[in-house]
Amino acid sequence: MASLPSADHPRLQTRAIHASVDRDAPFGSVTTPLIQSTTFRQSAIGDDAAHTYSRASNPTVAALEAALAAFEGLPYALAFSTGMSAITTLLLGTLRSGDHVVCGNVVYGGTYRLLDQILRQFGVATTFVDASDAEAVRAALRPNTRHVIVETPANPTLDVCDVAALADVTRDTDTLLVVDNTFLTAALQDVGALGADVVVYSTTKYIEGHNATVGGAVLCKDEVLHNRLDFIRKSLGTIQSPQNAWLTIRGLKTLPLRMERHSENALLVAQWLESRDEVASVSYPFLKSSAGYATAIRQQRAGGGMIAFELKSGFDGAVTFCRSLQCAILAENLGAVESIVTHPASMTHADVDPAERERTGITDGLIRVSIGLEDPADLIQDFDQAIQRAKRSSVSTKPATEVVS
Ligand SMILES: *Cc1c(COP(=O)(O)O)cnc(C)c1O
Repeated sequence: MASLPSADHPRLQTRAIHASVDRDAPFGSVTTPLIQSTTFRQSAIGDDAAHTYSRASNPTVAALEAALAAFEGLPYALAFSTGMSAITTLLLGTLRSGDHVVCGNVVYGGTYRLLDQILRQFGVATTFVDASDAEAVRAALRPNTRHVIVETPANPTLDVCDVAALADVTRDTDTLLVVDNTFLTAALQDVGALGADVVVYSTTKYIEGHNATVGGAVLCKDEVLHNRLDFIRKSLGTIQSPQNAWLTIRGLKTLPLRMERHSENALLVAQWLESRDEVASVSYPFLKSSAGYATAIRQQRAGGGMIAFELKSGFDGAVTFCRSLQCAILAENLGAVESIVTHPASMTHADVDPAERERTGITDGLIRVSIGLEDPADLIQDFDQAIQRAKRSSVSTKPATEVVS
């Protein structure tokens, strides 16, 4: 992929801003032009035009891809309509009936559903394992294993897996290591440098970052794989729209800055949650008490914006907490400027078998928080009042219901 002239700045924040500024742009526009066109005129039959039809490629989408590749420091990037269409295109483009996949047992609910309920029907078997244990991943490999797919930190428990150790497991095999880097992005974690063969994103989350678009991306090191995925994307029709690509380019410009502040805010909130008697456990990669701490400080530049915690008041407490929020928003997204709280067991991971949920730590009382860019003092105040209500409801509703019944 041709990278734009200014894409080679060595430092991340400069690259994030300048990777999409085309010094040769018509009119000298500093922002990437939004080319809202389905089709492109060809000067003659057989003309080798750069773009023909926006299901195959589009100049604004191509500018996003060049910027994502430059930012990540990988040669190839493709942008997709959603994170799930990115993952679906990757898997349909690389797997065939009889193949096997090893997947982390804590992953985005849609990835689990795609492997467990859809690809299984087409003869692709998946083994779900604890990917924070590289030896468990090694033990699950079969001669026909095509991919090891992991997230780190994983959604929603924030378990951390050691990407370099997993790369040691897949090296010298026919298995590609696919890392979903949605939670940290290349601003905080270079999974390609740690040994991932393929990096996938939901750009819906931090990369666009403003709760305004859905989108996805696949980045890789191998030209043959890239060309194959480009062909599959054109065939399936899973490309990103020009308008969303334009907004995502704008999001990318502030990504490192936002990730830094998300991480600062989240560390403060995580430490505060950990100090509370009402909180049973807190999972945040940069808390010393978190299981993945040693790996996280080695492979991440900061902790990121996601926290998972559990109230002692369990399911009822979680429901009351979510209902009581006045600043953070109860919703099924993450990675945006607004803080968002999710109850995975009833929302994002409702499709995962309850026994499997319990086994992988997605308990009924688990609360996932995407810490936004509000003043952290306001978030702590909001969580404080919601925790008080959750505590009161779990103590006081029982006698009240006894009276009524
Ligand atoms: C949201 C998400 C996805 C799916 O992305 P969509 O844009 O919602 O399709 C995949 N992986 C992770 C880690 C996510 O958080």
